[in-house]
Amino acid sequence: MALTPEQQAEIDAQRAETQMTARAVSPGMEKRLYTAHEVLDHGVVRVIDYMGDDNAIVQAARVSYGRGTKTVNSDAGLIRYLMRHWHSTPFEMCEVKFHVKLPVFVARQWIRHRTANVNEYSARYSILDREFYIPEASQLAAQSSQNHQGRGQVLEGAEAARVLDILRDDAMRAYDHYEDMLTPDEDAGKQGLARELARMNLPTNIYTQWYWKVDLHNLFHFLRLRADSHAQYEIRVYAETMCDIVRDWVPAAYSAFEDYRLGGVNLSGKAVELLKRRLAGEEITQETSGMSKGEWREFTEVWG
Ligand SMILES: Cc1cc2nc3c(=O)[nH]c(=O)nc-3n(C[C@H](O)[C@H](O)[C@H](O)COP(=O)(O)OP(=O)(O)OC[C@H]3O[C@@H](n4cnc5c(N)ncnc54)[C@H](O)[C@@H]3O)c2cc1C
Repeated sequence: MALTPEQQAEIDAQRAETQMTARAVSPGMEKRLYTAHEVLDHGVVRVIDYMGDDNAIVQAARVSYGRGTKTVNSDAGLIRYLMRHWHSTPFEMCEVKFHVKLPVFVARQWIRHRTANVNEYSARYSILDREFYIPEASQLAAQSSQNHQGRGQVLEGAEAARVLDILRDDAMRAYDHYEDMLTPDEDAGKQGLARELARMNLPTNIYTQWYWKVDLHNLFHFLRLRADSHAQYEIRVYAETMCDIVRDWVPAAYSAFEDYRLGGVNLSGKAVELLKRRLAGEEITQETSGMSKGEWREFTEVWG
């Protein structure tokens, strides 16, 4: 379970409060605000605040005094133009603040995205909850033989069951020891270890939480890398949830992002030449392509 009943009640109370505002609001994002979207076994993504909408992007691009919007079609066309030509600063005018609950090993990948503002739950100040990510059996896979950074075939029955037992046992034993080290006991002459030290035996599948604020341009960069099929499943599911949220928040910008970035392909100069040769009817193999095996594989994955 991702949320306690008390946490859900706090969210419901916040959603019940509304205020009049002269600011631009996004109807799609208003529906999402504060709501907890569950990810993995205990993870959560929710929007705490946001600034701007599709109109804010065109308003900034046109440096307008008022809303600066024209027809829906010409605004969407301008957004597509900006995305196509990497004119990125108008997208930076929109911001969003997420509350994310995620396993520590996912947080380590996530924190590499430096263009966000982060405030993490302090395990020096507070005691971490007994919450560990235990994958579903379908996510337990062997090392990929092709991709050094990826997974291959799913583990079968007895092996998968043993892995799950190990993960659960290790997590529970480590947490028992964490609690033991923290707890003072006068009779036993125990002072209890400081929280900042006791946490060091906890495995990286324990959950942490943070507030993460980012502008739309850098969020798109994050989503392009982490919603991609090459990203690890455990971070990808967060990115996919965030894609759904962003689609509701800024539909025109998301549609341009989906088309040019998620659905688009970058071509090297060599790849452009190869495509031209192919279109001219030449049969090309990896040997005649001038590409490495890996590059050729990636090229043919897209172009057949
Ligand atoms: C599939 C995958 C595998 C990965 N594997 C590894 C790995 O094995 N080991 C590893 O260490 N990392 C790995 N990474 C992390 C990766 O190298 C990046 O650190 C991460 O994706 C963040 O990207 P970024 O720096 O572009 O993002 P951000 O930090 O959000 O930066 C966004 C952009 O801002 C600019 N920028 C930000 N800071 C600076 C700066 N200090 N100097 C210059 N420009 C800056 C750059 O243009 C950058 O692209 C992996 C990432 C992915 C998606």
